[in-house]
Amino acid sequence: MLETYLDLARFGEDTGLLSERQFDRLIERSFLDPDGTQKALLSGRSLREAIHDVFWAVMNQRPVPPGALARLNADVQTAAGRMRVVPAKGGGFEWSFDDFGDFDSLLWPIARAAADLLASEQLPYVRACSSKTCEWFFLDTSKNHHRRWCDMTSCGNRAKVQRFYARKKGGC
Ligand SMILES: [Zn+2]
Repeated sequence: MLETYLDLARFGEDTGLLSERQFDRLIERSFLDPDGTQKALLSGRSLREAIHDVFWAVMNQRPVPPGALARLNADVQTAAGRMRVVPAKGGGFEWSFDDFGDFDSLLWPIARAAADLLASEQLPYVRACSSKTCEWFFLDTSKNHHRRWCDMTSCGNRAKVQRFYARKKGGC
């Protein structure tokens, strides 16, 4: 799903990491700097692989590959260097990322979120989707922690439909 830098930026916008304004600005600038965007795209892919490998190892109770953890940590450290505490709108304070307009700036909150999850008590609730055709991981925040699909409306629904047709075929 990450074929081009536009895919990465779209992911950033869809997940709320980038505002519409930030997205537009990055895309506008991306035409002027194909090398920069390509570098950010490759970084995005490699961070995705690293996060996948670390969480896969955790879920399967295997040793975490040191290279993958080091890769994640490199981005975590970059992210930390770009974070600051700012007054929040509703009072109090919140963490915020500097907006340097870097092509890879949307990777910082992703690395940070992955690290936060690794270091949290919610780690045992990270699951792999039960769909055979889906490779997504998800955080099972359901009450009983029995969730099986990354998304009920896509994978969960597909599985239900398949079961329905399997039953029909079986004549029940
Ligand atoms: Zn799925």
